[in-house]
Amino acid sequence: MNGSSTHHEHELDCAIIGGGPAGLNAALVLGRSLKKTVLFDDNQPRNRVTHESHGFLTRDGIHPQELKRLAQRELSAYPDVRIEASRVISAEKEMEFFRIKTEGGSVFHAKKLILATGFTETLPDIPRLPEFYGTSLFSCPFCDGYEMRGEPLAIISENEAGHLAKVVSNWTNDLIIATNGNQHITASERQALERHGILLYEEPIRSLDGENGKLCSITFEDGTIIERSGGFVTAEWHQATSIAQDLGCYINERGGVETDPLQRTNVEGVFACGDISMGPAQLVIAAGQGSLAATSVVAAFTEERFGE
Ligand SMILES: Cc1cc2nc3c(=O)[nH]c(=O)nc-3n(C[C@H](O)[C@H](O)[C@H](O)COP(=O)(O)OP(=O)(O)OC[C@H]3O[C@@H](n4cnc5c(N)ncnc54)[C@H](O)[C@@H]3O)c2cc1C
Repeated sequence: MNGSSTHHEHELDCAIIGGGPAGLNAALVLGRSLKKTVLFDDNQPRNRVTHESHGFLTRDGIHPQELKRLAQRELSAYPDVRIEASRVISAEKEMEFFRIKTEGGSVFHAKKLILATGFTETLPDIPRLPEFYGTSLFSCPFCDGYEMRGEPLAIISENEAGHLAKVVSNWTNDLIIATNGNQHITASERQALERHGILLYEEPIRSLDGENGKLCSITFEDGTIIERSGGFVTAEWHQATSIAQDLGCYINERGGVETDPLQRTNVEGVFACGDISMGPAQLVIAAGQGSLAATSVVAAFTEERFGE
């Protein structure tokens, strides 16, 4: 079979694809519910560029990989949960099972499937931006605004700067918007922003400058240099895999996998949680949705058993 293996002897109650906070919390609840579960993770989360995660109860400021390590250690106490450090390349419905194939050629069969694969992002094409992303430029003010409170900040956004600037004004009064050559801000919005001291720079950005990930200034194509110590960036978001789409899950207008309030997708037996929905992107929300998805998996087994 070309070196591949089939784990029929391990017919699973549930497979979880993605081992960020969403998938890990789902695994915890399933382990505690005595459900045979495998969690697949290739450890490429979106927040791997950052050094501190904020806003997660009892773990404020923790390194994201340390949070993952602690969660995996907790899971090791539950004999029904196994972690496979591998990438899933496909998941298909086959009779009453989902057939899950990994990059290494292994095949697993699971009665239920939780998708927790997060999303990937493409940053604006601005010289040196990736050097600063995760250290002094971030995506979410609720996650990283507090550490930059009161500082001279920039909103770098090619398409939705106005809204983000208004939100970030809760953390600083010294704010500019840089649209990198785009003109998406209307005249009335510009006036409203300027009334609050938020200046708009629509010239293309020539470079971002600073050392060791710490931004110090932005240089525009017309030669203007503005000193800034950090800020927020908007990026394009994409699904991390095509698995949800291939299974027939409904993808909403944001590009996220749509679920009902119990994390059930439109495909029977498939649940989704965390950033994959492209809703509010925070660790604690992802973990909460993971817990809810697992509860819904157990509810589905209960209903099947009692025929309700
Ligand atoms: C720079 C930055 C800073 C942030 N800071 C904060 C913060 O301070 N506080 C906060 O609350 N949030 C923060 N966030 C947001 C937070 O990281 C996400 O909301 C959260 O990680 C989402 O969790 P998740 O489990 O849905 O997805 P992720 O954490 O992205 O995990 C998804 C996992 O699935 C894996 N995966 C994907 N496809 C496959 C596949 N086919 N097979 C196997 N594995 C797969 C990925 O490798 C990844 O490990 C930050 C984000 C960024 C980008």
